[in-house]
Amino acid sequence: MFTKILIANRGEIACRVAATARRLGIQTVAVYSDADAQAKHVAACDEAVHIGGSAPKDSYLRWERILQAAQATGAQAIHPGYGFLSENEDFAQACQAAGLVFIGPPASAIRAMGLKAESKQLMEKAGVPLVPGYHGADQDPALLQREADRIGYPVLIKASAGGGGKGMRLVERREDFAAALASCQREAINSFGNDAVLVEKYVLRPRHIEIQVFGDTQGNCVYLFERDCSVQRRHQKVLEEAPAPGMTEALRAKMGAAAVAAAQAVHYVGAGTVEFIVEQPGGYDAPDAMQFYFMEMNTRLQVEHPVTEAITGEDLVEWQLRVAAGQPLPKQQSELKIIGHAIEARICAENPDNGFLPATGTLQVYRKPACSSFAISDVRVDDGVREGDAISPFYDSMIAKLIVRGDTRAQALARLDAALAQTQIVGLATNVQFLRHVVRSTAFASAQLDTALIEREKAALFDQQPVPTALAVAAAVAQLLQAEQALQTTDPFSRRDGWHSHGTPRRSLQLLQGGTPVAASLTTGHDGQLQLQVGDTTGRLDWQPQGDGLLVQFAGLRSTAQVHVQGEVRHIFTPQGAAVLELPDPLAHAGEHGAEGGRLTAPMPGKVVSFAVQAGDAVTKGQPLAVMEAMKMEHTIAAPADGVVQELLYAPGDQVSEGAELIRIEATA
Ligand code: ADP
Repeated sequence: MFTKILIANRGEIACRVAATARRLGIQTVAVYSDADAQAKHVAACDEAVHIGGSAPKDSYLRWERILQAAQATGAQAIHPGYGFLSENEDFAQACQAAGLVFIGPPASAIRAMGLKAESKQLMEKAGVPLVPGYHGADQDPALLQREADRIGYPVLIKASAGGGGKGMRLVERREDFAAALASCQREAINSFGNDAVLVEKYVLRPRHIEIQVFGDTQGNCVYLFERDCSVQRRHQKVLEEAPAPGMTEALRAKMGAAAVAAAQAVHYVGAGTVEFIVEQPGGYDAPDAMQFYFMEMNTRLQVEHPVTEAITGEDLVEWQLRVAAGQPLPKQQSELKIIGHAIEARICAENPDNGFLPATGTLQVYRKPACSSFAISDVRVDDGVREGDAISPFYDSMIAKLIVRGDTRAQALARLDAALAQTQIVGLATNVQFLRHVVRSTAFASAQLDTALIEREKAALFDQQPVPTALAVAAAVAQLLQAEQALQTTDPFSRRDGWHSHGTPRRSLQLLQGGTPVAASLTTGHDGQLQLQVGDTTGRLDWQPQGDGLLVQFAGLRSTAQVHVQGEVRHIFTPQGAAVLELPDPLAHAGEHGAEGGRLTAPMPGKVVSFAVQAGDAVTKGQPLAVMEAMKMEHTIAAPADGVVQELLYAPGDQVSEGAELIRIEATA
């Protein structure tokens, strides 16, 4: 076995590989870009080598630098992870030439499976079923059109060198073929530098089911069952599970044998995945009628490999290391068993309600459910980030993978929903709530799986508000009062039991939800209890601390809630889901519209802490004039316009009521 390996990747997969290496007593070397100097994967390894700039082409794709780093640190092998160099045959070859072990298949196997068209020709010879289609070398447009006509519409045009869901065109009518072909070729040449395409039948309502295979240098090859990755958006996986719902023993054995045949046809070594598209002509409940066709083979470890680890109890990275070191496969086919059910959800920085637009930002709050990391358990979170880390524009938008397992699919689903509910991320948009909607949808829960599930169910998946506004407001108000109470002050303006020592015991709060104003007000009832009014709903507000959050009761609603305050934004997490409310701080905005005819008034009751100006001073718009204190927080009041200070109407230490004139300013023309 190796004593030291270099991990030519970043993020969660680099941390994942490091975890297994550590368990096996193997030293690890990380490589990192400028952006990743403080990254979690650097901390997870024993040594680290800086390899260049933040853009992948300046670091993680610079294989000469990576080979140098391996040689300089005395690593014997390189684990490429997934993405970056993992399916680069030249890199695999260069490792070998440099006397290093590439932890992956031989370069020849990567090459053979690298192009969709060529690999299909190979698979045809090996007797692996293919989607009816054309994958020849002749790319004459007239010939491609004739082939499409022969196959019958709808057809899919795919860039042979494509991947990651790119370079595909669905053509539903004969007359649209030529234009779609030209556009697919343009994208293919731009994205992959190769405009060869193939044409195949577009399978309606298919499932994506893939088989995990493993080969060793002794010529053994096994399959570690299937993963169903049918839940996709834009041809990219969202949820992955194993076993595939409805899978029969007979179909599994047939697909497993086909996958092993595919791997053996290219003398495969290491971890690989054979992806099949599965037609369900008999609908969701007729597995016997299912037809499977080879789509492609991914010659690397997949993102979703933990699902297979969860149901087999095997550590696939350990298998990779053993096989790369020349050892035989740890288990034979007959020794492998499926236990229970596992599902993985990819938590990404993206906005599902806005076309899954990727988001960047800082993980200001990052709370995970009780879980293990990089180790098989009922709830596992694999990630390459920590609270406070940034999701940068340089790399992909995946924040974490959440993998749950249960005895049954129903149990796994319930655990997934609960774990998602406990995942709290503040600082950037994520798909966590969207994933919960998918998991809870009838279609997913009852395993009506096909690649169009998200599109079909979109009415229930997008733009959902899982938390009633009244509850969200109640939680935000409770948190506010709690924070004020925690200040333990006798300041009448900061006390929970009445905000004014004079005037009406009523406090108005102007909140915003998704830009829409939500009016709320608080009063103290005859019984001394707080009454909250949110829109048309009025009721008693009760709360008490619970765990690291609050137990809130209002108007027949009762829920635990965690409220994270980020400036004026309140992120509210409840078991039902999350909500975001804005609670604009009137003091912070005082300078924006505080001047009425040259008067600057206090927008809230509070105490004057200090003035930054004197009578006669010339001030410019935005210049800080005074500091007020309310709720034991200081707020700066800025000049609304250029002008000259005429008079200060209070002194530091004075209590002022709402609307009191603080400073008189004469605006300059
Ligand atoms: P990529 O290499 O870009 O991931 P694939 O060939 O693996 O492309 O296909 C990605 C996804 O596109 C599949 O998971 C499936 O959802 C859809 N797809 C691919 N081929 C077909 C087909 N013939 N009919 C219907 N859907 C398909």
